[in-house]
Amino acid sequence: MVKNWALLDKKYIWHPFTQMNDWLNDDNLIIERAEGVYLYDTNGNKYLDGISSLWVNIHGHRKEEIDQAIIDQIHRFSHSTLLGLGSVASIELAEKLITITPSNLAKVFYSDSGSTSVEVALKIAFQYWKNTGNEKKKLFVGLDQAYHGDTIGSVSLGAIDIFHSIFHPLLFGTLVIPTPFPYHNPGSTPEELKDKCLNSFMELADKRADEIAALVVEPCVQGAAGMIVHPKGFLKDLETICRNHDILLVCDEVATGFGRTGTMFACEREKVQPDIMCLAKGLTGGYLPLAATLVSDKIFEAFLGPYTDYKTFFHGHSYTGNALACAAASACLDIFDQDRVLERLHQKIEFLKNCLLKSLADLDHVGDIRQCGFMVGVELVEDKKLRKPYPTELRIGAQVTRNVRRHGVILRPLGDVVVLMPPLSIQNDEIETIVKATRESIQEV
Ligand code: PMP
Repeated sequence: MVKNWALLDKKYIWHPFTQMNDWLNDDNLIIERAEGVYLYDTNGNKYLDGISSLWVNIHGHRKEEIDQAIIDQIHRFSHSTLLGLGSVASIELAEKLITITPSNLAKVFYSDSGSTSVEVALKIAFQYWKNTGNEKKKLFVGLDQAYHGDTIGSVSLGAIDIFHSIFHPLLFGTLVIPTPFPYHNPGSTPEELKDKCLNSFMELADKRADEIAALVVEPCVQGAAGMIVHPKGFLKDLETICRNHDILLVCDEVATGFGRTGTMFACEREKVQPDIMCLAKGLTGGYLPLAATLVSDKIFEAFLGPYTDYKTFFHGHSYTGNALACAAASACLDIFDQDRVLERLHQKIEFLKNCLLKSLADLDHVGDIRQCGFMVGVELVEDKKLRKPYPTELRIGAQVTRNVRRHGVILRPLGDVVVLMPPLSIQNDEIETIVKATRESIQEV
């Protein structure tokens, strides 16, 4: 008997970030298989995966080398703990990660998701100062509109009201500096805004450096905020302020890592060397949950000592360093070299830029198009001249991304910002299809 998957889904599944009342009353797509940049639903319909399955997929689905690496690893073993034992797959991957990340990063701490990679970073930063005798340094600074995940520590650093405000009573206090976002500050030039945000951090650092453990930042692009692209030089200047005030710099590359902005990591764009770097999402090419928090030798060494000094980092998840996920990630990294992925990406980024300009810039309700590499946000507004947003209850972003499925494309919005973030393996004609479908869907809605 053919099963009614949509019905069974409604019976059993609670979907993330979803008003289930809407879901239960909707016709929902159920994905059955995928190949390359395409997803296929249970009715046999084919869709371009325009958001890389929530920003994780890199080289496409069913990439032969990654499939094979996982199968090969299964024949060796699937999981063994890193608590008290090492594993070949996790060592192989760590060596590769240390080779491709900024040269100061020396050690890899594994976990399972972007949120846990940030959670680990926060705990390491906090304990680093404790272990080095700086008990007062326990405050974290984040940016307005930041998003670092859904666990309580990462939510504490989050500053997107709709996601985070409800949990305020559970969170630890943080210091928030403004984010340089020209579109929502029409009176100021990007340079002025950049200076304003940097000055705010500088003032804070001047006054309270002895209490501040770290600055946590999404480098170059704040993804979940609606693809806010920072002005050039902003990250570098933040780094300088951190260095001058003995504040650790944590770069959350969960969304920006693995080529998404056009370079392997966004930090590279500004030659920045974070003390701690968080990686997840694209790490396994979108295959398996795995995250890594990378630290410098300086940080690592502060955790060394006799056992009874209790400098140990007491943290570790059951599936930390899972061998299947590490094998997938190793294969994913090899493909970057083998397929010359980053080299070939430049041309695709330019092509995408031209398509966006040609197809979307003239639309009456497209207020802003933001792009950094393959991370794109198209902001929809009721009145373009006045930059007036649509009333929230219209859920215009959701309407547009729902409707775009009729054109064979899967997208997901962030509020009224339509996000385009295809796998790096996409071809130019498929880029054109996504952008055209977006245009038509905006016009129709
Ligand atoms: N950090 C950033 C910058 C992110 O964009 C996200 C997820 N979108 C996370 C952390 C959390 O990752 P995960 O959903 O894997 O927990």
